[in-house]
Amino acid sequence: MNELLKSDFGPDFVWGVSASSYQIEGAHDCDGKGKSIWDVFTNEGKRAHANISCDFYNKYRDDLRLMRSLNIRNFRFSLSWPRMIPNGTGMLNMKGIDFYNRLIDECLELGIEPWITLYHWDLPQALEDKGGWTNRDIIGWFSEYTEVCARSFGDRVKHWMVLNEPMVFLSTGYMLGMHAPGRMGLGNFIPAVHHAAICQAEGGRILKGLMPTAEVGTTASLTRFEPQDPNDEDDVLAVRRVNALVNRVFIEAPLGLGYPFNDFDALLKLQKYMQPGDEVLLKHDFDFFGFHNYTREIIKHSYFIPVINADIVKASKRKVPATEMDWEIYPDAMYHVLKEFGSYENMPKIYITENGAAFPDEIANGKIHDTARVEFLKNNLKSVLKAKSEGINIHGYFVWTFLDNFEWAEGFRPRFGLVHVDFETQQRTVKDSGLWYSEFLRE
Ligand code: BGC
Repeated sequence: MNELLKSDFGPDFVWGVSASSYQIEGAHDCDGKGKSIWDVFTNEGKRAHANISCDFYNKYRDDLRLMRSLNIRNFRFSLSWPRMIPNGTGMLNMKGIDFYNRLIDECLELGIEPWITLYHWDLPQALEDKGGWTNRDIIGWFSEYTEVCARSFGDRVKHWMVLNEPMVFLSTGYMLGMHAPGRMGLGNFIPAVHHAAICQAEGGRILKGLMPTAEVGTTASLTRFEPQDPNDEDDVLAVRRVNALVNRVFIEAPLGLGYPFNDFDALLKLQKYMQPGDEVLLKHDFDFFGFHNYTREIIKHSYFIPVINADIVKASKRKVPATEMDWEIYPDAMYHVLKEFGSYENMPKIYITENGAAFPDEIANGKIHDTARVEFLKNNLKSVLKAKSEGINIHGYFVWTFLDNFEWAEGFRPRFGLVHVDFETQQRTVKDSGLWYSEFLRE
């Protein structure tokens, strides 16, 4: 294929970058902000924390100017629920709301379109103390928060997403204990899944009801899963279970297809938490889906992993090229997930709201020659273009991420940014990938 051009994607294709509140903002206890589950999980657990991180809360003006200077015209970021409503419900923190007002106004002044995610994993700790996502009352708490967001910013923000990658925060936070709030086991996971699935649809309904002209979506992390041995029926069935759980639950529920019980029977446990009318509550006609893809995983059947009986054969074990996250570099994965999930009947328009890679970037003489990241992005975009040319309804692409930031359980080691951050000095240095993206996006 010839050199990739922005114009190949058409004049209306949206280009941007993505980020999230807890990962970049810092200012963890400033101006009346309440604690989030991540503040507690990291600080009380004596883990790497994002108390300061990129200090975006104080540096957002300069960061947005830098973004604009790199020709980036769309910025997807999330709102911190406990910054706006410290106890999760009830009293508002006007200083927190004001921060987002200033951020949004600054974006618009610079000609950067704000794309808001309501929830990118930083639940108010006060709500976690009452059970968090396992408590059905979260539907009411989340509805209240959604309404506050729409009423505060809906006059200026035209693009909204309800949840960021629900299956990721539910599995890592409520099943495996690796992410906040660090809970484990099916007894936490299963009700949390059901309540998040209802909140996803309910959030969509509330946003659309209060802002009929806004574009309202939600996001999902979609990984391409393939069997270790395509001729081994056990491996093939393991892939089917993993795909049902990880990829399909939060896409099929809003499309009105219910939960994929047939391909993973442990999901039947969800029925215990379903009340009459919930099938209807799970469904919502979103204006778009935000798809995320980072890699493919190879799956084998395993008797040692309870319930799902499936295990990942890590990239390092397979000795294939991988990123700092030990995620295989496999740009075809993007094509496959776009084809598989973009082909659902009634699938609305799709934006790729995250895609990117972490590499061990070295800064030398003020430059970062991250050629591997440039290649990664180009090859992923070729996959996007291929799926688009085959009729998948794709309308935009956002790089994860603008600034190096706090990478959850992995702390600050994996760097995903187009812009390098020195966390000691807060110095920003545009990487070669940032310069490449800027050149690519030039009008
Ligand atoms: C999340 C981001 C995360 C990125 C890289 C996505 O799962 O939305 O918060 O930093 O992938 O792991």
